[in-house]
Amino acid sequence: MKKPSIGKHFAQPPVNNPFSRFSQAYNFVASNPTKKYRTVTSNRKNGVIFKAEARLANSGKHKGKKVIQCETKKSIVYIYECCWNCKSNCSGTHINTYSKAIK
Ligand SMILES: [Zn+2]
Repeated sequence: MKKPSIGKHFAQPPVNNPFSRFSQAYNFVASNPTKKYRTVTSNRKNGVIFKAEARLANSGKHKGKKVIQCETKKSIVYIYECCWNCKSNCSGTHINTYSKAIK
């Protein structure tokens, strides 16, 4: 089931990520390149496994900026510093189930 769009950088209220700052999460992901994560959902059930990669964006408006790339079997989600502690990223994609799992 597709979630309804909430627009970009939705942060009312801000997401309470384990890492309060993007740089902390980025460094953690960079230091744990083989770690597997599981998405955090409200009912604690339907979490899916994903892997995360910390790198620099190689194209688009964030070219050269740090990005955490979260990848499941089905999708890839990009989280930039500007998106941290928001429910959605620059593209309006839900990111909080990923960002809350990075710890
Ligand atoms: Zn953003």
